[in-house]
Amino acid sequence: MDGLPRERELPFGSNSVQHGTAVFEGIRMYAAPAGPALFRLDAHLQRLLDSAALLGIPHAYDLDALRRHVRDAAAGSGLDSAYVRPVLYTREARLGVNLQDFRFTLGTEIWALPADDTPPRPLRVTVSPWCRPSRSSFAVRAKATGTYVVSALARTRAAADGFDDAVQLDPDSGRVAESTIANVFLVRDGRLVTPWLEDSVLAGITRDTVLTLAGDLGIETSEAPVLPGDLLAADEVFLTGTASGLVPVAGLDTRTYPAVRPVTDALGRAYRRAVLGDGPHRPSWLTPVSRP
Ligand code: PMP
Repeated sequence: MDGLPRERELPFGSNSVQHGTAVFEGIRMYAAPAGPALFRLDAHLQRLLDSAALLGIPHAYDLDALRRHVRDAAAGSGLDSAYVRPVLYTREARLGVNLQDFRFTLGTEIWALPADDTPPRPLRVTVSPWCRPSRSSFAVRAKATGTYVVSALARTRAAADGFDDAVQLDPDSGRVAESTIANVFLVRDGRLVTPWLEDSVLAGITRDTVLTLAGDLGIETSEAPVLPGDLLAADEVFLTGTASGLVPVAGLDTRTYPAVRPVTDALGRAYRRAVLGDGPHRPSWLTPVSRP
C-alpha cells in the first residue's frame, strides 16, 4: 500500500503470511468515565505469552514489555474507544517451518470503535459442518492466526446459508465447542453452562469475566460437556467475545429462543458496567491509558 511506513508492511513471502504462524490478541479499550482504559489487559497478554509458548515461537518480550508496548500504542492512537490487536509475527521470508529459525516481533494494530453501550443485536446461528481443530492436531489453547482459516470457512458457509454465525463442534467428541470468534453459553432452568475446556475451546477472557459476574449475581454456573441437543433445549443462548461482549442468540437452526432473556440481559448489563469500571473487580480489570 502506498504511504505505509515500512514497519507496517509485511512481506508476502514471510513465514507468518505463508504458514499462518503468528499469535495475537484482541483487546478492548473503553471510554470509561475515569478515562480510556484497556479491559483485562494482563489476562490477554498472559494468553499471548502462553500462545507463543505453546507454538514454540521465540521472542524477547515478557509481560512487562508487552504491557508497555500495548499501553503506548493505545495511548499514541489518541482514541478512547478501540479494538487493540497486538500480533507476534515474523517478517522473515526464508523457507522452513521450524519456528525457532525465525525472529518474531510485536506489532499492534488499532481500530476505532464507536463508544456505544447499547446491547448487541441478537444473532441467528447454525451448527457448522466444519468442526474446530482437533485437540490432537493443534494446541487449541493457542490463539494463532492460522486457525482462523477454520473460522473463516465456517463463518462464510454460515453467511451463505443466511445465518449470522456458526457454532462449531469438537471433532473428537461431537460436543459443542465454540462459535467462530466467540465462546458459547446456555441457560437452562436459571443455571448457566458453558462448554468445558476439555473440548476444542479457546479459554476466552470474556467467558471468564461472565463466569465471575454470574457468581456475583448468585447465578449457578458450570463448565461442562455440552451436546448440540443441549443448546436446542436451552431457554437462552448467548456468545461471548472481546470484540462484541455478550451477544444474545435469537435462534439456532430451526429453534427460536424466547425473546425474553432474563439471565442473558442481567449478565449483559453487568458486563457493560464492568468494562467501564463499575463493579467489584474494577481495580484489577481496568488498565488506564494515559495520553502521551
Ligand atoms: N473463541 C474464538 C475462536 C475466538 O476467536 C475468540 C475471540 N478471541 C473467543 C473464543 C473469545 O475469546 P475472548 O473472550 O478472550 O475474546
